[in-house]
Amino acid sequence: MNKQKLVEIAQRNIEMRRIQAEDVARRAQEHLMENSTFATLERQLRRVQVQYAMGDHSDQTAQKLAELKEQRKQLLAQLGIQEGQLAPHYHCSKCDDTGYVNGQACSCLADEVRKMLIKQSNVANSAYTFENSTETDKHNLGMYNLAKTACQEGKNILLVGQTGTGKTYLITACANLALASGKSVLFTTAYNLSNSFLQAHISELETRQAILDSITEVDVLVIDDLGTEKSYKTVTGDYLFAVINERIAQNKQTFISTNLSLQQIRDKYDERLFSRLVDQKITKVIKLVGADKRVDK
Ligand SMILES: [Zn+2]
Repeated sequence: MNKQKLVEIAQRNIEMRRIQAEDVARRAQEHLMENSTFATLERQLRRVQVQYAMGDHSDQTAQKLAELKEQRKQLLAQLGIQEGQLAPHYHCSKCDDTGYVNGQACSCLADEVRKMLIKQSNVANSAYTFENSTETDKHNLGMYNLAKTACQEGKNILLVGQTGTGKTYLITACANLALASGKSVLFTTAYNLSNSFLQAHISELETRQAILDSITEVDVLVIDDLGTEKSYKTVTGDYLFAVINERIAQNKQTFISTNLSLQQIRDKYDERLFSRLVDQKITKVIKLVGADKRVDK
């Protein structure tokens, strides 16, 4: 789903909150109107309010208005209701759930978009963040800083290291950081990605394009565990190259983690894909080290 569409849905979600809040207030008011004393008072009050609004600011009218308001307040107190309960309780007090303040998008709209981005990103663990990291290895901590900077500077990340060095944690932290800054993210494994490529390959042109667009259009594509995918003769490599190439052309970020060494990447994929993946102008290559963290020492 593209960003514009997301914003539209977010606007609708906020609009729905407004309608719900106003509905609750309206029902509370309707319920009160079943009390005949209140109903009479309310109707009188409205009549005088209209008079006043139409320009009748005479002492008599002003006094009547004040009296009626006071009576209403007292009656409500007798009934155990606070005046505030009759007004809509908006979710966002800045924009009263309209999504806009003085024609500018309200922060709640950005929050809503961010929430939706997270939902459709497939990032499995929102708790994997730079802040929550328990990494203590000095070398790796340096790598965390490099990764964070690369992420913020709009660069690609190629994260290498053996099993158990915390690559999935770090790549997920990068994905969550991108999400927090309002970018759309697609988190996928190389295995699933290669299946998508195969699906695209055997589909009609239109479907194929739709599949590839969904992979290309996100701000950040995360491919976990490159090298573990099924290799469908030329299909995987060719599509991967096309996607990576297109994303570079569109200045979009790609984060890749892999157990493979650079030499193994070069051996497994062809020269042009390899040179794209390790191009230092656009990519930060990050290497994590350490004993297998999943094994007790
Ligand atoms: Zn708001």
